[in-house]
Amino acid sequence: MKGNERINAGAVIQAYLNAGITELPTSMQINNYVSNKKRTLEISGDFNFVDMENMVREIKETESEVVEFKYRIDEENPSKTDWEIIITCKQMLDDQRNQKHGNIDSTFKLIFGGFPVMVWGYSDINRHIHPTGVAIISSETIETYKWLFEFLKSNRFCNGEWIPAEFVADNAQCITTALREVFPEVHRRNCIAHIIRHIFDVKFGEYGIDKQTDGERIKNEILELANHAFENHFDIAGAALIAKWKASDHEGIVQFADYFDREYIQKNKFWYAANGQGIRQNNGMEGSNKWIKRDFINRRLPLMEAIAALKKWLYVCAHKNYGNPAISVKTNEWIAAHDLKSVTKVIFSGGTWYVRRSKSEWDETDYRDYLEYYTDLDNVLDAGDVELFQKNIVVVTRSTLYENEFTCNCPIGALRTRCKHVLLIQVFCNHREWPNMPALRQTINGTARTRPGRPRKHTQALSRI
Ligand SMILES: [Zn+2]
Repeated sequence: MKGNERINAGAVIQAYLNAGITELPTSMQINNYVSNKKRTLEISGDFNFVDMENMVREIKETESEVVEFKYRIDEENPSKTDWEIIITCKQMLDDQRNQKHGNIDSTFKLIFGGFPVMVWGYSDINRHIHPTGVAIISSETIETYKWLFEFLKSNRFCNGEWIPAEFVADNAQCITTALREVFPEVHRRNCIAHIIRHIFDVKFGEYGIDKQTDGERIKNEILELANHAFENHFDIAGAALIAKWKASDHEGIVQFADYFDREYIQKNKFWYAANGQGIRQNNGMEGSNKWIKRDFINRRLPLMEAIAALKKWLYVCAHKNYGNPAISVKTNEWIAAHDLKSVTKVIFSGGTWYVRRSKSEWDETDYRDYLEYYTDLDNVLDAGDVELFQKNIVVVTRSTLYENEFTCNCPIGALRTRCKHVLLIQVFCNHREWPNMPALRQTINGTARTRPGRPRKHTQALSRI
């Protein structure tokens, strides 16, 4: 190793191992270790102490920092040694462990040697992503993911075990396996945005499916399938969709059906708007990765410099202002919910609120009869039943992740955005009160009439159409 341009992480690990140090517990210990090594050992050509000292200095600069170092030496083939440097701080670690869920996404091209960087965090009730740590790893394996999950579960900086209810990631099998081993009960969410993108960018081309015609239709069918609230409904509708694709004259669509069935129905199906579950996509976490690349690491850096840049990024994240944590309801949302109240019927059954959709053509008797039929476990539902259900009924349930919050499977609620159905149920459950509705409606009308700079000509042109 020459100069300070680049450091061989394997050599660092080997040096730690040789010294019998298995983690980076405190800056003082590392400092002592380095001075001791300098006194007692010859510095060989494959290890650069300047790099080590830089690392020590940086660790000392931020006292609250938490760094954990894990590795497993492959004795047969040392170059295949797995290692991981976890960087976070106590405040972020506590913040993450106070949540019931996590998001994780890996990014590449930040560091020489191609070492991936894992970024994790959580989504707050207003869907802001809070990054809470990063890990630099030798490569993406079950082992490296397990180390991270084990660290989040229990570590020497925090009391007790953290058991999340939910984790969101892309479709990677190593994440699924690692999660299952460390958190056997966790609901492993599969990011729907990744699925759609992968299908559009890769699979449609591979199977010769035209993106604009068949591809667009298939995408919409997948998005519709994603709006199911119940697992059994999803299974029935999913099987019907696969059968429909398989009956196509287009050989590519038939093959695509097999692929989709295997990957997203049999293997990792939890990308739909399941009752009570949190966000369905990992876009916020990916956005964080893009943010690192734009503002902190815009070209590949040597390992030590990358660590320094990632620490700066984490510092900014830890001090970021995420705005008012309370949820504000917009006037038009109140009005939509209040309008819904007069046309719909809410039925509470088995911990779930069923709401007849505003567009449903059923009368109250139809609605009650159908609902009785659907909720009777003795009835075997078919794809037609499930389709009818989706068209006429929305399902509101308590969120498993956030206190006093609800989920809904209407197209807006399924995106985990607050919808009029949820608002209505919150009023039903006394979590909210109707504001003064006549006054609220008056403000809307008043503003529309008197708003300065209203585009009159434009309005007139529109009214002529
Ligand atoms: Zn809704």
